[in-house]
Amino acid sequence: MIEKILLASPRGFCAGVSRAVKTVEDALALFGPPVYIKHEIVHNATVVKDLERRGAVTVENAKSIPEHSVVVFSAHGSPPQDYEIAREKQCTLIDATCPLVSKVHLEMHRFLKDGFSVLYIGHKNHPEGIGVMGEAKHHAGKDIPLIESEEDVERLSFLPEEKLAFLTQTTLSLSETEKIIAALKRKYPHIVAPPGKDICYATTNRQNAITSLAKKCDLILVIGSKNSSNSNRLAETARAEGVPAFLIDGAEDIDPAWLEQKHTVGISAGASAPESRVQDVVSFFKKQGASVENHTFIVESTRFPDPPELKKLWERKKP
Ligand code: SF4
Repeated sequence: MIEKILLASPRGFCAGVSRAVKTVEDALALFGPPVYIKHEIVHNATVVKDLERRGAVTVENAKSIPEHSVVVFSAHGSPPQDYEIAREKQCTLIDATCPLVSKVHLEMHRFLKDGFSVLYIGHKNHPEGIGVMGEAKHHAGKDIPLIESEEDVERLSFLPEEKLAFLTQTTLSLSETEKIIAALKRKYPHIVAPPGKDICYATTNRQNAITSLAKKCDLILVIGSKNSSNSNRLAETARAEGVPAFLIDGAEDIDPAWLEQKHTVGISAGASAPESRVQDVVSFFKKQGASVENHTFIVESTRFPDPPELKKLWERKKP
């Protein structure tokens, strides 16, 4: 029987996701539907469905965006070709790429300009990596090697005199990425790291919070969608602490078998998961008599300003 639930903090929406969701809401308020979204605005089924109900239309390929339409690019970032397509179609483009992802795009530019060969640590087919690696292909005609594991590092064959640098996806596992970076440094001691870590503050804080939470629980539930990288990493981080952990979109996904002989459940949520879904899960356990306690690891205060083009559009609308 579940006696207690421990709620991780921080959890759920990060500054980049809040900004991206607000950008779509503002675009709908400014222009009315339809507002096209290139790729899911954030990787969460509840958020995407809610915005689509209000008039957002998600498309996977920039070529599917109609001419002269209003389009928002998702928080994950996009390759340069997509910006060109939106310009050619004379769309009103509002870019909701998280500023911390844009920072990695800029780092890619700087390293290439300074003559480095760049490696990218990330997950295959994730839109963030497609965007960042697309910069190198578009501006320098270079294919960037994607590193997903220590085995991938072993397969690299750069020459010792080659200038090398690495960048990473913002939502990776801290511990797995450390192992890959250590392998890179063993093989190429001169490899240059990005200035400041690319794994973002929200990923870092949520993983550190769940690591400390796991020590107090015999089960962890992470609220988030299956295609959310940072939500998956949270569940993996809990499992690495020896605690069973499951990724769920909401209370409807809870399997009663998971709860057998368990007493304390830790709850966290990926950076794209809305608090309403967390509260549904809290209610589920409260109805069964469980008490609720907060487990605060750190208090976040990061906020990002609106995309500059959105600010200009609001200015123009003023009477
Ligand atoms: S998880 Fe990090 S990089 Fe991704 S949107 Fe949130 S703050 Fe930005």
